Amino acid sequence: MQGYCFELITGPMSCGKTEELLRRIRRCIIAKKKVKVISPDVDTRTKGDYIESRNGLWLEAVKVKHSIQILSVVKPDDEIVAIDELQFFDENITKVITQLMNEGKKVIGTGLDLDFKGDTFGSMPQLMCIATQVDKLHAVCMKCGSDHATRTQRLINGKPADKNSPLIMIGGDETYEARCIKCYELPDAEAEKRREKEKNSLKLIKF
Ligand SMILES: [Zn+2]
Repeated sequence: MQGYCFELITGPMSCGKTEELLRRIRRCIIAKKKVKVISPDVDTRTKGDYIESRNGLWLEAVKVKHSIQILSVVKPDDEIVAIDELQFFDENITKVITQLMNEGKKVIGTGLDLDFKGDTFGSMPQLMCIATQVDKLHAVCMKCGSDHATRTQRLINGKPADKNSPLIMIGGDETYEARCIKCYELPDAEAEKRREKEKNSLKLIKF
């Protein structure tokens, strides 16, 4: 339970990141360590000032909008700093966590490594590099039941969302599920239209 370290828990949605974070925090509390729990203000899954895992466990947390504010929320006697949903913080988060480590704190964080498009999420690549320990958890694939789901599938009205779908959906029934690489789908209607157009123009040249 020594300080000067940063443990990062990552993986797709529903892989148990927050559950694992809460498990580690509880162990710190049993060891009578002073813990500060922080979550980004943008996380809409939880309504109040607490973090909650999908299996119903929860702990009080301080909501923070800008990552630099973490430095004033964390007090000198806090030994452990737990931060949920790191992918939502601005780019200063890397510097903030480095400073906390240098001050002798133990930082434990969670974050989605990839967004629904399969692109790296926020500062997660940098955070994975500065972490002293990275645990990449797998979820169960919601389509085939494989134990190795590493992707987050976005569904709009039950269908795989298009690559170009807007980040904020209005009026659509939007859900997310964990999938393995084999079952992960990312339709690109724009590219399909372009291919169709090219095919038709080739036909015109032929005849
Ligand atoms: Zn699958």
